[in-house]
Amino acid sequence: MWERSGERLCLHREQWAALLQQVAAAGYTLIGPRQRSRTIAYGVLDHGTDLPTGLGDRQGPGTYRLTNRGDAALFGHRAPQDSWKQFLYVPQRRLWRARREGRDLAVLEEARERPRLALIGVRPCDLQAIAVQDLTFLDGPFVDADYRARREGLFTVAVHCVEPGETCFCASMGTGPRATRGFDLALTELLDAGGHRFLVEVGTEAGARMLAKITAERATERDAGLGEGLLKEAARKMGRTLEAEDLPELLARNLEHPRWDDVAQRCLACTNCTLVCPTCFCGNIEDRSSLSGREAERVQRWDSCYTLDHSRLHGGPVRASHRARYRQWLTHKVGTWVAQFGVSGCVGCGRCITWCPVGIDLTEELGAIRASDGALA
Ligand code: SF4
Ligand code: SF4
Repeated sequence: MWERSGERLCLHREQWAALLQQVAAAGYTLIGPRQRSRTIAYGVLDHGTDLPTGLGDRQGPGTYRLTNRGDAALFGHRAPQDSWKQFLYVPQRRLWRARREGRDLAVLEEARERPRLALIGVRPCDLQAIAVQDLTFLDGPFVDADYRARREGLFTVAVHCVEPGETCFCASMGTGPRATRGFDLALTELLDAGGHRFLVEVGTEAGARMLAKITAERATERDAGLGEGLLKEAARKMGRTLEAEDLPELLARNLEHPRWDDVAQRCLACTNCTLVCPTCFCGNIEDRSSLSGREAERVQRWDSCYTLDHSRLHGGPVRASHRARYRQWLTHKVGTWVAQFGVSGCVGCGRCITWCPVGIDLTEELGAIRASDGALA
């Protein structure tokens, strides 16, 4: 039986390409970061030749700029604009169709897709986000069979983060910059006078089997030490921090804090933060029928707690104001989520800060509430 040893192996750039070829040859579709317009986003890779070579990014509240690093790094950028959520909990899928056939009604179940996806370059915060979504879709009394089918077909190659961005705070959330679990293989990219190479850690038997198909040498002590040093430095350089331990209690005490009115003046209720968030799972079920009345379908699609209709009950929406909707999102994300699932719903990826068009920053909002906690009682 295979056992995780923690031993670091080393792959040179050419062996990395060979590894991706082996993963593809094993029947996996490779998904990873790619340049899309002027951002980096996830998409299907052509054997890794379209990874964003030499590209970095600058991120800030409401700001994203692609940059040229001037080197050949493949993972020299931060968390891409979108997350892996789209491949496991897909944005829209038909559940069934119905068709009138004479006096009868034929109900046609949708065939369930069972893709075999290899996720290449999963950041530690996003590994935790997948673990958080597992709690939502797999661990409760109602298992999402589509999510499970997609989840079971995964091969995961993680990348430890050595250059966190301005909006990152995974170190505060205990989710990075080192990946500790949930991967088949985990890499640290090294690029210096010693060449372009990857330290590789094996996380599962499937990872060990894949790596055995190519020649990987044992990492030198110098390289192993270099990788450790980069990770320590990354934790120190984290762009933001969040005091996370007592957030459920802090928020429960401050449901009427005036900061909710303040943020409501700025929030557009555009839903961006929930759509880019790797753990948000709000969904809706829509029934649609053709104009002829002969066909109908039921569709599941992403929704957001920022939409007016999401909280509509008889008589109207329960959360009619921006204040109520922002408060619902944040108090659930870092507060009541813990009581519901045993972990925070925030993994510190920073996407909601970068992609908020008005630059609302949850670390700043929570800091403001904390600063006057108790003073307003
Ligand atoms: S709330 Fe923001 S920082 Fe936290 S996981 Fe979601 S997108 Fe990332
Ligand atoms: S916080 Fe920002 S991204 Fe989220 S709904 Fe409000 S304006 Fe949109």
